[in-house]
Amino acid sequence: MEDGRFSLRATSTIHADVVVCGGGVAGAMAAVAAARAGASVVLVERYGFLGGNATAGAVAQFNSWQTANGRRVVGGLADEVVARLGRYGGAGEHATFVMSTGHRMDRVEYAPEVLKLVLDDMVQEAGVRPLLHASVLDVAVAGRQIEAVHVLTKSGVIALRARVLIDASGDIDALKRAGADFLELDDGEALQPATMMFRFGPIDFARFDALSKAEIAALARRGYDEGRLARAALHSSRDPFSDDGWFNISRLGIDATDAMALGAAEIEGRRQAWAAARYLRECVPGCEGGQLRAFGTQVGVRETRRILGDHVLTSAELLLPEQFPDAIAAGAYPIDIHPAAGGELRYEGLGDDHAYQIPYRSLIPVGFDNALVVGRGVSATHSAHAAIRVMTISMAVGQAAGVAAAIAAKQRAGVRAVPIQALRERLLGDGAKLA
Ligand SMILES: Cc1cc2nc3c(=O)[nH]c(=O)nc-3n(C[C@H](O)[C@H](O)[C@H](O)COP(=O)(O)OP(=O)(O)OC[C@H]3O[C@@H](n4cnc5c(N)ncnc54)[C@H](O)[C@@H]3O)c2cc1C
Repeated sequence: MEDGRFSLRATSTIHADVVVCGGGVAGAMAAVAAARAGASVVLVERYGFLGGNATAGAVAQFNSWQTANGRRVVGGLADEVVARLGRYGGAGEHATFVMSTGHRMDRVEYAPEVLKLVLDDMVQEAGVRPLLHASVLDVAVAGRQIEAVHVLTKSGVIALRARVLIDASGDIDALKRAGADFLELDDGEALQPATMMFRFGPIDFARFDALSKAEIAALARRGYDEGRLARAALHSSRDPFSDDGWFNISRLGIDATDAMALGAAEIEGRRQAWAAARYLRECVPGCEGGQLRAFGTQVGVRETRRILGDHVLTSAELLLPEQFPDAIAAGAYPIDIHPAAGGELRYEGLGDDHAYQIPYRSLIPVGFDNALVVGRGVSATHSAHAAIRVMTISMAVGQAAGVAAAIAAKQRAGVRAVPIQALRERLLGDGAKLA
């Protein structure tokens, strides 16, 4: 390194009980939970801040905390995130939200910039060592063990040696490098599209919010038919600090693990967002005085790789709902599939008191003894993933994986040897909901 030339060999090594790759909401919660459970933790993130889709992607609303009739199914660390956002003034209250499909859910709108602070606070207070501006480069494997994760940083390549790896990179890059197996799409399925979120304002919310569902639908349809909106929707959330909204109305049908396609989507996403902002200003009541104020740092990515786990969660199991003895999280978000191009959402609502469970086995990658997957890469079919991918559930699964990894690291017996009842009791004690 000294003479300026770059080596792909690691120049330093860090040891930890648990290494978490990816600092989205799932990874951040996993790191905090593992550290609070007594593990030494390094959290790797390619950006200079945490949050992933929740901050870089500016998604700006945590959806679906409860069943349609109001029974809470997500708590624990996710609740703490909202409470901390509230202390900064960076989140609204839990509020009922009726989707364009008529489905009732509970959501919390938040300021993505404030979420960065909250996640900083939580990882620092828990004693997690964040390694920011670090990208997964390679993974050393010996048989069924992950030996080390090599990350590329400004200081060169660092080797991270841990007893347990949690892959929270969304795209599951670390386990991809390790040679893990992934689920394929079935015939007729396509990856859900990415979206470039954008901030628009000021909005006269008295007039904008007074629009009926039918009026919103008609405006969205007109914008789409005229080729000015890439998606026939005006879906948005309100910034808690201002009269601005974050709009989720672009659509980019790509595989975001394809580098060229991802770069092209950033450019196309900004183009679509600019055109949509113009449509808002010219055609939507309450938006006449607004302008596009910011893009997401990157396109938000809904779906890429899904790991092949010990259990592949299916939509039939969610709809039943199947009761799993190793349930480590619950959810009530419906199956919500955005078409990659054109068309309407495929939306399968759930019954009034319907919640489903996520089994621990869906976090365990086939072929490895010391790795777990959290967030949008969990082992689930395309349609089951379309429900469990949301941030509330991702945080709950992250919390569970963090505790499990801390137990596995302490026992030195691999992730399949984690005593499920002890894990579940610890999670319930920490305020998590498992049904
Ligand atoms: C447009 C859009 C709208 C959505 N709407 C909602 C909604 O309204 N409500 C809701 O609850 N959910 C919503 N979701 C879903 C939700 O945002 C995501 O599924 C969830 O945030 C996934 O979290 P994650 O931590 O698993 O992954 P991600 O958020 O993708 O985080 C992965 C992290 O890993 C990092 N990373 C990736 N690769 C590497 C690497 N090689 N090395 C180092 N770091 C790496 C990334 O920078 C990122 O921080 C939406 C998603 C999108 C895209």
